[in-house]
Amino acid sequence: MNRRYRKTIIAGNWKMNKTISETKAFAEELKPLLGKPKWCEVVLCVPYVNIPAAVRAFKDSRVAIGAENCHSESHGAYTGEVTVEMLKEAGVKYVIIGHSERRQYYNETDFTVNKKVRAALDAGLYPIVCVGESLEQRELGVTMELITYQVKVALAGVPADKMRHVVIAYEPLWAIGTGKTATAEQAGEVCEAIRAVVRKLYGARVARSVTIQYGGSMNARNAAELLAQPDVDGGLIGGASLKAPDFVQIVNAANQE
Ligand code: PEP
Repeated sequence: MNRRYRKTIIAGNWKMNKTISETKAFAEELKPLLGKPKWCEVVLCVPYVNIPAAVRAFKDSRVAIGAENCHSESHGAYTGEVTVEMLKEAGVKYVIIGHSERRQYYNETDFTVNKKVRAALDAGLYPIVCVGESLEQRELGVTMELITYQVKVALAGVPADKMRHVVIAYEPLWAIGTGKTATAEQAGEVCEAIRAVVRKLYGARVARSVTIQYGGSMNARNAAELLAQPDVDGGLIGGASLKAPDFVQIVNAANQE
C-alpha cells in the first residue's frame, strides 16, 4: 500500500449469495464491527436485486455499494441485462467488470470488458477491472504478457482524466475460490507490472495514483502480508466477504495508518 499517492480499497464480491433479508442482517452485523475506517475505502459488490436494500442499509456508514457486472449499451433489447445508468441511479458507486467467472461462464472478452469500462466511466461509476492468468498460463511463463494485454485492451480509449476512477484487480484464476493464495511476492510482482503498463500508457503521475487490488482467497490470515506489498493497494474479496467478522478483519489489516 502507498497511501501517499492512492486510495486503499477493500471490496467484497458477494457473487450469487445472500437474499435481501440476509443483506439487511449483514449490514446490521457489519456496521458496529466496522466503525468508520479512516485509511481505507470499503465497498460491497452485491447481486443486482440486493442493491437498493444495501444502499439503504449502509447509507449512514462509510461502505460504498458496488454491482458485480453491467451492460455496455445504454438501453435496448438485452433481456436480463442492466445498464450503468440504472446502477448509478440506484446508488451504486463501483462496478466489477470482467471478473474471471463472467469471462469463463458468460463469454466476456477483453473487448467487451473495454466497452463496459468506458460505459461505466461515462456514467460516473468506478470500474473495478479484473485481470488474471490461469494456472496453465502461469506455468507457461506468459503471465506478464497476458496481463499487459488484458490491461491495455481494457483501458483502450480511456482518457487520462478518467483514470482516477479506475481500479484494477489482479486476480489469478488459480487463486479464486480455491483457498490457494498467491504469495505476497507473486501478487506484488504482478501488481507492480500492472502499474508499469499504466505508466507506459498514461505517465508516472496517473500510474502512481491508480489503486491496484489483489484478489484470490484473501482472508484474515494472509491480508496483512499481501497488503504490505508496495503495489498492492487493497483486495477484492469473495468468500471472506460473506461473513462480517472475517471481512472486518481484512478491513482492519488495510486500515493501518
Ligand atoms: C473473487 O471472486 O473475486 C475472489 C477473489 O474470490 P475468493 O476471495 O473467494 O477467492
